Amino acid sequence: MRPPPPPPPPSPPPVEPSLSENKWGPYSSAREFVANIAIVLIVPIAAILAFFFFFALVGFLLRRLRRHHKLLKNPAVDVPPAILFSPATKMAGADAGCGICLSEFTDGDRVRVLPACAHGFHVTCVDAWLASRPSCPTCCAAIVAAAAAANPPEP
Ligand SMILES: [Zn+2]
Ligand SMILES: [Zn+2]
Repeated sequence: MRPPPPPPPPSPPPVEPSLSENKWGPYSSAREFVANIAIVLIVPIAAILAFFFFFALVGFLLRRLRRHHKLLKNPAVDVPPAILFSPATKMAGADAGCGICLSEFTDGDRVRVLPACAHGFHVTCVDAWLASRPSCPTCCAAIVAAAAAANPPEP
């Protein structure tokens, strides 16, 4: 019976130059020094880019939201006030009903009567329409504020 082979001698620990001998100061090598500089430069640049990206994104979302409600807030578009429909309500083609959803008006419906052509529509129906184009859904008459119509822009 042979004795077991002796264990291999432990490998010597890697030699690291002490800080005082290293010309790269606290960095162990030139490569680590460059990597450190790169991190110091890249992190703020990435932070600034993320900052601008964030504000661009917020601005984009706000613009989209505003565009959706622009016409109702646009002073150049005179959205008529909502009124409650009654048989006495004067509007063009009232017996035909709302030109958007094609249902007849009933007493108490909230409607808007467009000033240019007197066509009337449900508030919910016409607001969705007016959010995208300032004209009558039935006859395409433009809906502009009286001030803008009185002083048309020079051609
Ligand atoms: Zn309607
Ligand atoms: Zn009309």
